[in-house]
Amino acid sequence: MTDRTGPAPQGPAPLGSEPKRAPVESQSAGSEQPQETQSPWTPDRARYRELIDDQPAYRLDQIWHGLYQQDTPPTELSNLPKALRARLGNSLQPALELTATQNSSDGRTIKWLWTLPDGSRVETVLMHYKDRSTVCVSSQAGCAMGCGFCATGQSGYERNLSVGEILEQVVAARRAAAPRRLSNVVFMGMGEPFANYDRLIESLHRIIADFGIGARNLTVSTVGLVPQMLRFAEEGLQVGLALSLHAANDDLRTELVPINARNPIDDLVAACQLYRERTGRRVSLEWAMIDGVNDRPSDAAELAAVARRARAHVNLIPLNPTPGWPTVGTPRARIDEFVNDLRNRGVNATVRANRGTDIDAACGQLAAPDTAGSTATEVTLSARSHHR
Ligand code: SF4
Repeated sequence: MTDRTGPAPQGPAPLGSEPKRAPVESQSAGSEQPQETQSPWTPDRARYRELIDDQPAYRLDQIWHGLYQQDTPPTELSNLPKALRARLGNSLQPALELTATQNSSDGRTIKWLWTLPDGSRVETVLMHYKDRSTVCVSSQAGCAMGCGFCATGQSGYERNLSVGEILEQVVAARRAAAPRRLSNVVFMGMGEPFANYDRLIESLHRIIADFGIGARNLTVSTVGLVPQMLRFAEEGLQVGLALSLHAANDDLRTELVPINARNPIDDLVAACQLYRERTGRRVSLEWAMIDGVNDRPSDAAELAAVARRARAHVNLIPLNPTPGWPTVGTPRARIDEFVNDLRNRGVNATVRANRGTDIDAACGQLAAPDTAGSTATEVTLSARSHHR
């Protein structure tokens, strides 16, 4: 996992220039045993207050300003006393080590590969649009959900990311986006965010309160874990929710998204309805267009029925190539027919512009390269029979 061959890192400066870290980041902030390091973005404000309880009160404001206004860890804040910087640096060191950067040919998409202290690897993608800049963050190293068409799913699960590891991705994107303002954060990178629920929620609160990005500019994408969707509806957050549906009958959906066996479509529809009731926000149904599998007129009819019941918007995504799945995306002309069919059935539907395909940064393509061996595993789905 630690072989570092790949393109020379470029892009944002590594978040820390300190010497090598101790290996494990602990999420339990309470221990005084120094010696497990955490990301400087993991402790909340109350925990920082404890860490520097011998310092004048304004030091906390200086640290907080550094972390969330200057995107800079305490060890690099020249307005802090040297001894305090050194003390904090013993236990708080940036978790993301930049391993590779790729830029799309049009220069508007950047993908970073990071190595974490334990050798796990994750990716983050920054996308610039005319009116906004969006970062797509990973919430887990790998993913346990096993969706066959997804490069991350093909590579297996390693572990949940900590709050600090998630927030450092936002920090890196803000630094790289400057002087543009990073306006949106989407949890659509590697991993199933709801499988890392508590850290997801804390990260969302921090992004809203500390980075100053409004809840309505945040989106969480789930493959459909119903218990967590119901819980999320009650969090009092007006965050966008995207459900990766991809099939509107349980048989096909369970083939494409195995977790559907325990989270069937009727339950997903009920969860979408509740989310809308509680937050006032319409759920977006994500639908990767797979040639011959879920792009037939009968699929449009089924999808329209589900979208109407869920009172949801539909977002069609041209399927991106991944090495482990033989099926290809729907041709553009048929995507246009499909979206018109949905609209004629009274559904609000759009086609997502694909970004970063040439650097494997588009939807479903994220897979840290060290896992490429398993990514290349041939996945055979009987869904291929729909191909004919
Ligand atoms: S599509 Fe999402 S939930 Fe499914 S394997 Fe990929 S990252 Fe995991």
